[in-house]
Amino acid sequence: MNDCIFCKTNNKEVSAKIVFENDDVSAFAPIKQVSKGYTLVVPKNHFESIFDIDKNTLEKLIAVSKDLSEQLVKENNATGINLLHASGKDAQQSVFHFHLHIVPRYENDGLDLWLREKL
Ligand SMILES: [Zn+2]
Repeated sequence: MNDCIFCKTNNKEVSAKIVFENDDVSAFAPIKQVSKGYTLVVPKNHFESIFDIDKNTLEKLIAVSKDLSEQLVKENNATGINLLHASGKDAQQSVFHFHLHIVPRYENDGLDLWLREKL
């Protein structure tokens, strides 16, 4: 996928603040920050969504996300973490390379990422 921004990030074709990487997974700070320490975790290989990523890669990505969550809380004195993911256009996925958002949370940070009853 030549035009995939996260593949380009993984291949260092675009600059990003990479906070972690190994053979399977990388993590970087998105340009648009929503909270201090906000981080995206992506597989090195291109998978579009939860529907095509293999379980082995997903397990590795989740394990990295746990470690990063602990690290980000510690480094930023955060008091919590939200993990967010979208698969599919109608689920508000905007970049079609699998990614998990780690959003560090702080007391009175003004964010509300929780689901609201709609009906
Ligand atoms: Zn990609």
